Amino acid sequence: MSGTSVIGFPRIGEKRELKRATEDYFAGNLDYERLAREGAGLRRRHWLLQKEKGIDLITSNDFSLYDTVLDAAFMLNAIPKRFAQAGLSDADTCFAMAKGYQKGTVDLKALDMKKWFNTNYHYVVPELDEGMEFLLRGDKAFAEFTEARAAGVETLPALIGPFTFLKLSRIRGALTSRMREGIAGVYRETLRRLASVRSGTVRFDEPSLVTDLDAGDLELFSSLYGTILRDRGPLKALLQTYFGDIGDAYDAAMRLDFDAVGLDFVEGAGNLDLLRERGWPRGRTLVAGLVNGKNVWRNDYSQSLSLLEALESHVPAGNIVIGTSCSLLHVPYSTRHEVRMPERYRRHLAFAEEKLSELTTLASLFRRDDCRSDPAFRENQTLIGEKRDLPEFRSPEVRRRVASLTEEDFRRRSPFVERTALQRRRLNLPPLPTTTIGSFPQTPEVRALRNDLRKGTITEEEYDERLKKMIRDVIALQEEIGIDVLVHGEFERSDMVEYFGEHLSGFLFTENGWVQSYGTRGVKPPIIFGDVSRPGPITVPWISYAQSLTAKPVKGMLTGPVTILNWSFPREDLPLRDIALQIALAIRDEVADLERAGIGIIQVDEAALREKLPMRRAHWRRDYLDWAIRAFRLASSPVTDETQIQTHMCYSEFSDIMEEIKEMDADVLLIEAAKSDFSVLDSLREHRYDKDVGPGVYDIHSPRVPGREEIEGMIRIMKEKFDPASLWVNPDCGLKTRGFQETVPSLRHM
Ligand code: GLN
Ligand code: ZN
Repeated sequence: MSGTSVIGFPRIGEKRELKRATEDYFAGNLDYERLAREGAGLRRRHWLLQKEKGIDLITSNDFSLYDTVLDAAFMLNAIPKRFAQAGLSDADTCFAMAKGYQKGTVDLKALDMKKWFNTNYHYVVPELDEGMEFLLRGDKAFAEFTEARAAGVETLPALIGPFTFLKLSRIRGALTSRMREGIAGVYRETLRRLASVRSGTVRFDEPSLVTDLDAGDLELFSSLYGTILRDRGPLKALLQTYFGDIGDAYDAAMRLDFDAVGLDFVEGAGNLDLLRERGWPRGRTLVAGLVNGKNVWRNDYSQSLSLLEALESHVPAGNIVIGTSCSLLHVPYSTRHEVRMPERYRRHLAFAEEKLSELTTLASLFRRDDCRSDPAFRENQTLIGEKRDLPEFRSPEVRRRVASLTEEDFRRRSPFVERTALQRRRLNLPPLPTTTIGSFPQTPEVRALRNDLRKGTITEEEYDERLKKMIRDVIALQEEIGIDVLVHGEFERSDMVEYFGEHLSGFLFTENGWVQSYGTRGVKPPIIFGDVSRPGPITVPWISYAQSLTAKPVKGMLTGPVTILNWSFPREDLPLRDIALQIALAIRDEVADLERAGIGIIQVDEAALREKLPMRRAHWRRDYLDWAIRAFRLASSPVTDETQIQTHMCYSEFSDIMEEIKEMDADVLLIEAAKSDFSVLDSLREHRYDKDVGPGVYDIHSPRVPGREEIEGMIRIMKEKFDPASLWVNPDCGLKTRGFQETVPSLRHM
């Protein structure tokens, strides 16, 4: 094997065709056959594109109508009984596992969804139990392989590896040897089937190998593959890892009978050291992940070629394949669609399609001795150099400000006990004050209004007037319901990150830069291009207007620096910590302006704080949390003691970063808790959390209206678990995805 490899291609299609078709199918406007045909058309187009661009190892079975982990569960017949018994078609069984199913007397809750490692993609969590009969079900892997062959493209069928599959599954009870054997048996059977259609190589994706593993894990990994790879005939096997270095699993992986191993050299800097220290088995192919599958910048050929040269002293050049660092699922489809983006920016970007050309160019440069005098190389280096010359790239003022930060800038003036006394006096709130997380329902009317402004069918003044009316209504509604701390509703925001990005300099926006987040949902992350600064106040006019309508406190509502950074594509020439500090300074100025405008409570949301926790625990603090917490503190600390800082986070898994949450030093922590029975309050108490807490008393992710008694019960529980004098009462998260019809009664009951 040599040449180039693509670990996976965005499957939603360049115009999000798959999203549309799947949603039409869900709505009953498209039959399954037409949906399947749409899927087949997309696969074919993506394979042919890769072939035409000269990619050697093209993946099949990276496609899914919803999620590939879900497909793997289906392939193993790991279908919980309640879904298997619903009498649905195969496709609908999968969709029911993904999204739940409600019809007639059947009422099935969806399986859980979790973040796919350190990406913003979410997979469906398989649920396994001892009673399951694992057997090869369906023919997706072979069918897609033969479909590609019929289209003239030889592909590598990719399977979610059995080790990662087990690590990601929720296992009821313990993993028994019967389950292990059953699962390994299905993989063996799959290999036999693939051998019978003479697929040359099969790929096993094992990203779980880049996480912290213990001896039991390594034993599981080795024994699974010991069984699966035995007597596989002429079929070749590629072990593919990504999102980091394979650390302790290196030796085990090398000992096993794989023909090729894929390592990520973008996020897995440690992989090169492993190779140097432990060597590389003779004859084995290395698939070297060099083209970043998670970011949107053009590859710097000089860096990639230097790395390839370093690899060459351990692995013969003929055994090196140049690949993407991970699936291209995590970047948008093509820059061709960004017609409104000025060319001076666009040419620095490489989305999935452009990365294909980078791979083949790198491969041809790698084959040449004098590659650095090749025009393709020089052109690339000129481009990389030009980026630094763009005026937005570097703002001396921003750099100076970051460089001159002192410890003072990261601290509130007084300790919490003193602050809270002053705040209580100023705010004069009743015990168990009620509030919400910020957004109110984004009705079709709100969305149409923002669209009209974008299209220019209404003037800025008309837009402002209509938005003010919505704010007036929502303030009146909250007063009427009797909420203590009000919000303005966030109607001006399409998205909590995009909105701030649009009002800060240093950000670029795409028109069509969609990335799949889960199922049919996508996000369009902004791109951090240059130094970040705030040209002027962003939210102050809206919040001040809302505050002018009521005697009750209205919260200022901001997105925190870590969340803005984590939900954007960052630049690669600056460490993330420096980018975070730049954003933090911009938000800090907004916080200060809100205070100056008389706003007494400012909420700085860090919904995505956990998102980019490093894969290995030993790196959590040093490589991430240290600077992430400092960035939050920098953003939120310019205020006087009388001004209250609240923060909101929406995940309930908390206990492992409790010390860091304490270090954020927010006066009030509003946090998701309803789905986990307030267990978060137990960990807060164990860690002697001494500030105010608002554990969400009801789940906003469902249209269900919680009853009065139910909420009363919740409040009772939380009062038993935590000092009532420090408790707030609020929903779990923002209400923007809900309708008013369920929001109003829910808040009344609360
Ligand atoms: N303030 C935001 C809202 O209410 C927070 C959103 C979030 O937690 N993701 O929508
Ligand atoms: Zn939330």
